Amino acid sequence: MTLRHLLFPGAEVDLPVERRALVLNQNYEPLNVCSARRAFVLVYYGKAEVVERIEGGLHGIDHAYDLPSVIRLQYQVRRPRPQVRLTRREIFARDLGCCQYCGRTGPELTLDHVLPRHRGGPHEWENLVAACRACNHRKGGRTPAEARMKLLRQPSKPSATPAALFGHYLDGYAEWRPFIPGWAPRAGALALEGAAAS
Ligand SMILES: [Zn+2]
Repeated sequence: MTLRHLLFPGAEVDLPVERRALVLNQNYEPLNVCSARRAFVLVYYGKAEVVERIEGGLHGIDHAYDLPSVIRLQYQVRRPRPQVRLTRREIFARDLGCCQYCGRTGPELTLDHVLPRHRGGPHEWENLVAACRACNHRKGGRTPAEARMKLLRQPSKPSATPAALFGHYLDGYAEWRPFIPGWAPRAGALALEGAAAS
C-alpha cells in the first residue's frame, strides 16, 4: 500500500513533488518548510491541521483535491533559536541585491571578502558582501582602504526573523504571507525589477 492509497483510498493521485508547505508551531509561529507530501502525512495522522489550502491544487484521475499549503502543529515544538544560513543567496538578500561598493544592482553580483581570504579574512557574515564584477575586479586582493573604496555599510549577521528565514519562498507562495511577520517583497528582487524598468 502506498502513501497515496493510504491518503486517498481508491484514488490515483500524485502529489506535486516540488510543492512545499509552511509548518506553523501551535502558537502560529513559522517553524519550517516541508514538502506538501509530508504535510499531508502530518495532517493525516492528526499531528497537524490545515490552515491554508489550495483548492483543487491536486489532480487525481477523476477528482481534484485540496493541497495543504500552510499547516499548524497540534502541539508546541521547542527548538533552539534558528539561524540564517550563510549562503551566497542570503548574503545577496541581506545586501538588497546591491553592490556594497557602488550601489548598483544587477544579475552580475559576486561575493567579496572584505579582508581578502589570503590575508586571513574569515568566511563570515561580517567579512562578506555583495559586489558587482567591476568593483570586485578593481578591489582585487586588497582591503577597501588600500583600494580607496568605501563600503556602503558595515556587513553584519542578519537576525533570524521569519522574513529572513522564509522570505525567499514567498515569490511562489503568496498564501504564506500573513504567517510571515515582517515580510516585505524581496528588496533585491524589487531593485532588480526597478533596474530593468529604468
Ligand atoms: Zn560595484
